[in-house]
Amino acid sequence: MVPRVAIIGGGIAGLTLAKALDAHNLSAVVLEARRRHDLQGGAALAMAPNAMWVFRRLGLADRIVAAGSRIDRYLFIRADGRPLKTVDLSRISGKWKESSWAVPRSHILQTVAEAVPKDWIRWNHSINALHRTASGYTLYQESGPAISARVVVGADGAHSTVRQALWDLPDAQYQGFIALRGLVVFCLPKTHQHTVVQVWGGAGEFGYSPVGEELVYWYATMRWPRPPADPPAMDDIIRHFQRWTPPISNLIEATDPSELLIHPIFDRLQPFGVRPAVTLIGDAAHLMTPNTGQGACQAIVDAYVLARELYEHPEDAERALQIYRRIRLGSALAVGWRSRRLGQLIHWQRRGVGTLQTLVLRAVPTSLVTQAMRQVVGQPERLS
Ligand SMILES: Cc1cc2nc3c(=O)[nH]c(=O)nc-3n(C[C@H](O)[C@H](O)[C@H](O)COP(=O)(O)OP(=O)(O)OC[C@H]3O[C@@H](n4cnc5c(N)ncnc54)[C@H](O)[C@@H]3O)c2cc1C
Repeated sequence: MVPRVAIIGGGIAGLTLAKALDAHNLSAVVLEARRRHDLQGGAALAMAPNAMWVFRRLGLADRIVAAGSRIDRYLFIRADGRPLKTVDLSRISGKWKESSWAVPRSHILQTVAEAVPKDWIRWNHSINALHRTASGYTLYQESGPAISARVVVGADGAHSTVRQALWDLPDAQYQGFIALRGLVVFCLPKTHQHTVVQVWGGAGEFGYSPVGEELVYWYATMRWPRPPADPPAMDDIIRHFQRWTPPISNLIEATDPSELLIHPIFDRLQPFGVRPAVTLIGDAAHLMTPNTGQGACQAIVDAYVLARELYEHPEDAERALQIYRRIRLGSALAVGWRSRRLGQLIHWQRRGVGTLQTLVLRAVPTSLVTQAMRQVVGQPERLS
C-alpha cells in the first residue's frame, strides 16, 4: 500500500518533494505555515547542474530557467578590480549535462508550487507538535484540526519543528558573518553576461550576476561578531564597500532598503539518526552556509531521491527512508563542511596578514578550483 506522506514545510525542499511524489503517482499533503502570496521575495538562487538535472526529470527545467540567466563562468576579482581567476562552469557540469543558472527565488517557488496538485498544498498550516501513533503520526496545528499521516517528512527549514521534536541535536552554530542580498533593476556591461563576478577583498566578499533580462542579483558577506539584533543600516553597508570596485556601490544604492535581505549565517552539520516513519530533507536535515551556493540544490536532490525510494518500496516505507538517508545525508553534510571551510577562509582576518584570501585564491591553480566545484556539485551516479 502507498504510504500517505505529510510534508511539513512548503519551501523549495517540500514543494519539490511533492512534485516528485506526484510524478511517481504517489500522494502527499504539504503543510505550509505561510500564506500562498508570501512566496514573493528572497532575491535569487544559483541553481547548479545537480538541481537542474532534477528539475529536468520533473519536467520543470524550462519553466524554471524562463526567468533566469545561464551562468557560464565565475570571474574572481580583487576589491580593487584586478582579476584573480576565471572558472569555466561548463567544466563542473560533468554527467549532469546541465548548465548553472541564476533564478529569482520567488519564481522557483511559484513554478514548483503550480506544478503540485492544487489540493495537496495547505497554506497557513503551521505544525507545532507531532505524536507517534500505531499507524504513523498525528500532527497538531496552532489552530485547526489534527492531521494523521503514515510517513512524515520534515522539510521545515533551519528552525525545523520536526527536528526539534524528534531529535535531540545541538543548535545551529553561528558562523561569525552575515549575508546581504538584493535584486535590482540594473544594466551590466555586455562582458558580464552569463557571468558571476565574485569580488574578494579580505574578510568578506561581494558577488553579482545578471538574472533574466534586466535584473541583477547581488550578495555580500561581512564579518559580524554576533548574530545581529541590530542589523547594519544601508549607510553602514555602503561605507563598508565604498572602496571596492564599481559597480558595487551602485548596486547597493540601487537596492530598496525595504527589500534588502540580511541574514546571520548559521549551519548545523550533525547527522540525524533513524526514527520510525519520519525523516528530514533540505535545511532541516543539513543547514549549510551559502558559500558553495548549494543549500537549495542539495534540498532538491534530497527530494528527488526520497520520492524515488518511496516509490521503489511501496510496502516498506522504513526501508525507503533508510535508503534515502544513506544515499543523501553523508554527501549533503560533506558539502556543508566544504561550505563552512570556504566561509571561514573568506572571513579570516588577521592583523598584518593582508588579504590572505586573495593570496590563497591566486596560488591555487584554476584546475583545482574547478575540481573542488565539481566535487561539490557531485555526480548523478552518487544518487543510487
Ligand atoms: C544568503 C543566502 C544565500 C543562498 N544562496 C543559495 C544559492 O545560491 N543556491 C542554493 O542552492 N542555496 C542557497 N541558499 C540556501 C537556500 O536558501 C536554502 O538551503 C533553501 O532555501 C532550503 O530550502 P528548504 O525548503 O529546506 O527550507 P526553507 O526555504 O526554509 O523552507 C521551509 C518552509 O517550511 C515552512 N515551515 C517552517 N516551520 C513550519 C511549521 N512548523 N509548519 C509548517 N511549515 C513550516 C516555512 O514557512 C518555509 O516555507 C542560500 C541561503 C542564504 C541564507
